[in-house]
Amino acid sequence: MKSEGTTLSENLPSALITIFGATGDLANRKLFPSIYHLYKKDRLNRKFAVVGTARRELSAEAFQNQVKASILEHVGPEEQLDEFISHFYYLPLDVSNVNEFSKLKTLIDQLDEHYQIGGNRIFYLAMAPQFFGTIGESIYQQNLKSQTGFNRLIIEKPFGHDFASAKELNDHIRQAFDEEEIYRIDHYLGKEMVQNIEVIRFANAIFEPLWNNRFISNIQVTSSETLGVEDRGRYYEGSGALRDMVQNHMLQMVALLAMEPPIRLNTNEIRSEKVKVLRALRPIAGEEIEKSFIRGQYDAGISKGNPVVAYREEDHVDPHSHTETFVAGKLMIDNFRWAGVPFYIRTGKRLTEKSTKIVIQFKDIPMNLYMKTEETLNPNLLVIHIQPEEGITLHLNAKKAGQFMDATPIKLNFSNKSTDGMNTPEAYEKLLFDCLRGDATNFAHWDEVALSWTYIDPIAKAWEETKEPSFPNYKAGSMGPAKADELLGKDGFHWWPVTDLDVENC
Ligand code: NAP
Repeated sequence: MKSEGTTLSENLPSALITIFGATGDLANRKLFPSIYHLYKKDRLNRKFAVVGTARRELSAEAFQNQVKASILEHVGPEEQLDEFISHFYYLPLDVSNVNEFSKLKTLIDQLDEHYQIGGNRIFYLAMAPQFFGTIGESIYQQNLKSQTGFNRLIIEKPFGHDFASAKELNDHIRQAFDEEEIYRIDHYLGKEMVQNIEVIRFANAIFEPLWNNRFISNIQVTSSETLGVEDRGRYYEGSGALRDMVQNHMLQMVALLAMEPPIRLNTNEIRSEKVKVLRALRPIAGEEIEKSFIRGQYDAGISKGNPVVAYREEDHVDPHSHTETFVAGKLMIDNFRWAGVPFYIRTGKRLTEKSTKIVIQFKDIPMNLYMKTEETLNPNLLVIHIQPEEGITLHLNAKKAGQFMDATPIKLNFSNKSTDGMNTPEAYEKLLFDCLRGDATNFAHWDEVALSWTYIDPIAKAWEETKEPSFPNYKAGSMGPAKADELLGKDGFHWWPVTDLDVENC
């Protein structure tokens, strides 16, 4: 609540943000621009400092110039950046050497006092995951946690490689930080329209009564990319689409779509409902894996009009690689609300369109009064456009203009950008803001991470043990292997084409 005579930022907690990996891609492309946006929108208490660390030797001035360059590139021409970047400091530090953390402690203690921060500390691990445990431990051992304010640890994905490694990592971190102090980033949870799933469901009388197996026939969640693996071949070879996308982002979207209304809109209540969904996922094992999950790997093809190479020809990729770049799956949620309703998910690289969309397909009405016998009415669809477009489309049937009582499909559209001309805040900006305020709702709790891995592990293991002989099995620029279509076809459904559903095509 804004009190009289104060600005918004004065009511927000002061904070000292330490970024490990401050010379890396994530810090430059996402974190610095996000911190700047918060600053510019008066959503960052002016009592703040940012300390960047990485191994390379940089002066504070060189680091400040790097921050400035990042903002000019990712935000645009901005004036008066000098005051902002004056809050940025740099310390060369190799995180594998615990003793070097004492220098960091000295610096952050000084800055804490200089900016009167009051001991509020955020440690952001924008580094490779093998360092997470070590950094957590060193922060603890060298007393970097403050005794006077809050201490929060932000961790990037991937959180483990399977349940066992995630648990080991979690146990490691928990020696230094309590669960309430750990903010596990799943940047999909920071996306405007992912957050909108809850509002659409729980603020509309017309949807919530229909949101169950009596009225919904199936739900489809697609997250497709046109890009290939780019320069991330080394990481991706050890991960694949199942671990990179399904374990976290896709399952989080399914949980939000399927959860019961929380009794209150607070972190614990929402998380507890999401956890119940993940617990109700029907485990997939043995022969069911092949029936319910399809993997793909892209071959050479044409992407957005340009010829592109096969995954196996990408840099840092094994020419005989069996890593999947595409996954389609059918998930069943064994509870009263969702019994019998398939949730289909698909995600992949080098697909036709860059698009994340959710399609809720409603059951057909009992009888078709308005079309010739051989024709069928289009089902009602609710489409939630997550990215790059943000909006909602409701597909209905209405009277075709003219003399006869024929039905024709129509679409009701809401587009975030087209109505307000507003640019929704970037996911990282929102998540940083949440963390500053101590709101962990849009971060993954350990229980969610553990349950997701438990669901994914048998599939990942089976795919490691049995290679897919048909790889590569889809052309770059297509929508994945034919088997992904059969997955729905055998249930009498089909994927709704992502391009046809675009807001501008409506
Ligand atoms: P990156 O570009 O490779 O950056 C790694 C950073 O770590 C650099 O600043 C590097 O600087 C520093 N570093 C490496 N070894 C170090 C050591 N021993 N001691 C101290 N610093 C060290 O990686 P990134 O793409 O930014 O990714 C960072 C994390 O975010 C990863 O966990 C990644 O999975 C996750 N992530 C990234 C993105 C993205 O868009 N980039 C998206 C989602 C998640 P020096 O070489 O100077 O030490």
